[in-house]
Amino acid sequence: AKNGGRNGFAFYKSAMTEDASHFMTRSLELRRGLENGELVLFYQPQYCRQSGKMSGVEALIRWNHPTEGLLGPGEIIPVAEQSGLINEIGQWVVEEACAQAMRWRDEGHKCVRVAVNVSVRQLRSDDFVDVVRTALALTEIPPQSLELEITESMIQDDARIISRLHDLRKLGVSLAIDDFGTGFSCLGSIKSLPIERIKIDQSFVRGIPEDRDNTALTEAIIALGRKLGMAVTVEGVEEQAQLEFLQQRDCTDFQGYYFCRPVPAAQIFNLPAINVKT
Ligand code: C2E
Ligand code: CA
Ligand code: CA
Ligand code: CA
Repeated sequence: AKNGGRNGFAFYKSAMTEDASHFMTRSLELRRGLENGELVLFYQPQYCRQSGKMSGVEALIRWNHPTEGLLGPGEIIPVAEQSGLINEIGQWVVEEACAQAMRWRDEGHKCVRVAVNVSVRQLRSDDFVDVVRTALALTEIPPQSLELEITESMIQDDARIISRLHDLRKLGVSLAIDDFGTGFSCLGSIKSLPIERIKIDQSFVRGIPEDRDNTALTEAIIALGRKLGMAVTVEGVEEQAQLEFLQQRDCTDFQGYYFCRPVPAAQIFNLPAINVKT
């Protein structure tokens, strides 16, 4: 941008300098935001295909920015990863999700599964298993009610990450592969991973049942996951037609705007009942 010569001279900031200073500003703001309690978790319900009941929730990070309002993960996670804040933020996410699960339980709600997203840098960190263990111990929530969502591309053939997954599994938490199908890297190793769930990425679900390719892919992934003994959540369900089609399939859970957008914790148990069965 060109800034007019208010001080008697004009100067240009190159796009790169602007990006760099934006990044600097953002990472400082984010650190302050974390310290000031500006980060919040929203929750999006997941529903059991067979019973129609809420089977779990996914925690999704938001930032109550003091001047810009509510910001989504796109404004948080990339900055956090680049600035090295991701481990602190990831720790906060795990602790807050467990604390929320405890509050819901204390309010008398039945303990639903709470899923949190984990970034690859967190999985690489030697502290992560302890972070999870400590959060479970402090809140005394059943370990299996915490689910960690990791994306397929993180796993690759990284032996350290795979052994970390086994360490996490030993704590009793559940593991899910997020955005399944978009990384197509670990089909061979998937059977040896301690994974209980795959989540089919919303890109596969778009346009079904009219879109024949996506329909075939979604059906194939559901069958693959189920045959490997895993739960299969279909994400990104937006329309009645998608739901009607999926209800006839063997997936276990649904998640998507058709049912509910991500909402603040206080709303999760005040949602209108949903009839998943048609
Ligand atoms: P994701 O894990 O794949 O989460 C699902 C995203 O899809 C969420 O976006 C959710 O609001 C959105 N979504 C849910 N249902 C529908 C639907 O029916 N249609 C469409 N079009 N979208 C739907 P959100 O909250 O903006 O999160 C985006 C991504 O940011 C997440 O994708 C996840 O990868 C990442 N993220 C969110 N929270 C965290 C976090 O605490 N830690 C880390 N590391 N990543 C996070
Ligand atoms: Ca996710
Ligand atoms: Ca996903
Ligand atoms: Ca995604």
